[in-house]
Amino acid sequence: MHTRLTKEEALDLMKNADLNTLGRMASARKKELHPKGITTFVIDRNINYTNICWVDCKFCAFYRHEKDADAYVLTFEEIDAKIDELLEIGGTQILFQGGVHPKLKIAWYEDLVEHIHVKYPSITIHGFSSIELDFIAKVSRITIEEVLTRLKAKGLASIPGAGAEILSDRVRDIIAPKKIDAEVWVNVHRQAHKLDIMSTATMMYGTVESDEDIINHFDMIRNLQDETGGFRAFIMWSFQGKNTELLARIPDMEKPSSNRYLRLLAVARLYLDNVPNIQSSWVTQGPYIGQMALRFGANDLGSTMMEENVVSSAGAAYSMAKEEMIHLIQDIGEIAARRNTAYETLEFFECAQ
Ligand code: SF4
Repeated sequence: MHTRLTKEEALDLMKNADLNTLGRMASARKKELHPKGITTFVIDRNINYTNICWVDCKFCAFYRHEKDADAYVLTFEEIDAKIDELLEIGGTQILFQGGVHPKLKIAWYEDLVEHIHVKYPSITIHGFSSIELDFIAKVSRITIEEVLTRLKAKGLASIPGAGAEILSDRVRDIIAPKKIDAEVWVNVHRQAHKLDIMSTATMMYGTVESDEDIINHFDMIRNLQDETGGFRAFIMWSFQGKNTELLARIPDMEKPSSNRYLRLLAVARLYLDNVPNIQSSWVTQGPYIGQMALRFGANDLGSTMMEENVVSSAGAAYSMAKEEMIHLIQDIGEIAARRNTAYETLEFFECAQ
């Protein structure tokens, strides 16, 4: 039986343990949680229904203002066309997020979710970040609980962890001053979990946070998970700077190394002992570090990613087909399997060798 890491122990590991030891420790923990050596992935598609956003995060290259020439809100027909393409490749999930549009209210979102859910019942809508949900509540003058209840009734199934960045108001005040406070992010997820809407937790590191901030971030997630058990997975990635205001302001900001990614991932696997799944972020780290992450605690390769607009606007330009994903998993000696949003296995893939 494992003993739970304290914050001090986790910080010590993060700062002082060698990478080899961290990999071994995280792999041992992963094996306890996933003894069959199965690495999963999901076939899904990001749909960014709008790029209009008033939050102006300094690390973001995706958002536009309403009057910008390339600002958009997708029509239902455009969304349908994207889902049709996803169905053709066997997809089961859409990761559905904005922009935080300044004017769209709950009724618009209800129509949208209902439209997708009725027309595409086999597609799971994994959508709307905490800040979108919080703002829909504000602009519609209703509570978060009502937003969640109404969207769930129309077919919203699951909520992504986006917008967590680093759960420290000191860091958030620098990189995203208009974004919700850390406690609000936590509370939206708490409310969702209470309504039986499961979610994921995320972290974007590599800006102005300290190691202590990262451990506090892990701790907030672990505490909420102790309370609700509603997080299915944890996903972390590094700040992608290209085209962002933050990099323009702090041009000598150092890009986090691959070693740093693996180090933090291993400590996450060890600290978040109550979160069952850890996703590797090959979209930001590239396929080979994404594969290596499977030796540092990750048990899921995330999505084949047909379309990704947010981090690709900021310079992350990797894409991967299903066959490549299966190959990477098998190449490191694990069993490849396709999963759904709930991390249930849908299909295993035979090793070709
Ligand atoms: S990260 Fe999200 S909330 Fe922030 S500016 Fe970009 S689209 Fe808006």
